[in-house]
Amino acid sequence: MILHIDMDAYYASVEMRDRPELKGQPVVVGGTPEGRGVVSAANYEARKYGVRSAMPAGRAKRLCPHAVFLPPRMEIYADVSHKIHEIFQRYTPLIEPLSLDEAFLDVSGSEGLFGTTEKIGRRIKDEILQDLDLVASVGVAPNKFLAKIASDLEKPDGFVVVDPERTQQFLDPLPISRLWGVGRVMQDAFERLGVHTIFDVRSMAVETLQRHFGDHGSHLWELSRGIDQRRVIPDREAKSISHETTFAEDISEMEVLRAWIVELTDQVARRLRRSDLYGRTVQLKVRFSDFKTITRSTTLPQATNSTQQIWQATNEMLSNRLPAEHLAVRLLGVGVTGFQSSKLNQLSLFSDDSHEAQSSLDVASDEIRERFGSKSIGRASGLGRRRRP
Ligand SMILES: [Mg+2]
Repeated sequence: MILHIDMDAYYASVEMRDRPELKGQPVVVGGTPEGRGVVSAANYEARKYGVRSAMPAGRAKRLCPHAVFLPPRMEIYADVSHKIHEIFQRYTPLIEPLSLDEAFLDVSGSEGLFGTTEKIGRRIKDEILQDLDLVASVGVAPNKFLAKIASDLEKPDGFVVVDPERTQQFLDPLPISRLWGVGRVMQDAFERLGVHTIFDVRSMAVETLQRHFGDHGSHLWELSRGIDQRRVIPDREAKSISHETTFAEDISEMEVLRAWIVELTDQVARRLRRSDLYGRTVQLKVRFSDFKTITRSTTLPQATNSTQQIWQATNEMLSNRLPAEHLAVRLLGVGVTGFQSSKLNQLSLFSDDSHEAQSSLDVASDEIRERFGSKSIGRASGLGRRRRP
């Protein structure tokens, strides 16, 4: 059995924990509504008004004018994320983080010591609440795909166990949007075929699915049966580390995309540093509103885990290597591959002290982020402007 643990409205919950006077109020963390920033997180009170993450902050303000808008404090969220990981590590080294507030855990090796995966899931949820005063939702299931659906199903404060004997009963009534890779366009295509639930997908022949959706068709056929063989891969064993985000609304402003690049780069670089990994190849993934997806990659002269260096590469690709005329963007991803062991890098430090300078730049930029958090998103774009000729 696999655990998927996902913090509820993470950034917003950390802010509410640290500022009890916000209790009961709609809270939006992100760029300022006056600027071009986007919503990084909204608490459940704000979501009632239709505020969603990745939405322009100005739009959020129109939807919920009395919301409290707060700048992100990435340093704090990263620090709390580290503490959450320390709780995970009490139970297993097999932790696959998906972002600062979300991870898959394989605790099967600890069941002898602590009890069933379900029991361990309960303990972790309780310890996160006791130690950190934050609420996590937990999914317990035979595989990653099912665990991820389960953690989301009864949010906030959810705890859902998928009985391996009842996988199909669990999946069948769910809408097709719960299947991985089924976005708006594919959903429309399914609707035209009269397919609404996972049961409907399961009732289709695999050939029919392949005819309509190509290779993805056979994947959907498997998912609709709850089949997912992927292991939980901790970062240390991973071949690549990446983060991507799908926007609630397609984004055409370059400044907003640049702000997102900073955010995604930062998360990837933090994960690399946490696992002491250094990568040479930086990748940028962009999906446009017509679902055409392109990837670009840059190989650096030397492996790195510096936010600054990875950001320079991704920002360059975003600025110069997209098609001259392109549609609005619906998904953006940043990844690093080509890992080298840290020892190799430490050796190369002797011949390149600029690496050290870059690392201290990271610390400095983290400090700036914290101190001038209110301009976090704006500052990110400012960084781009200042660095370009
Ligand atoms: Mg979350």
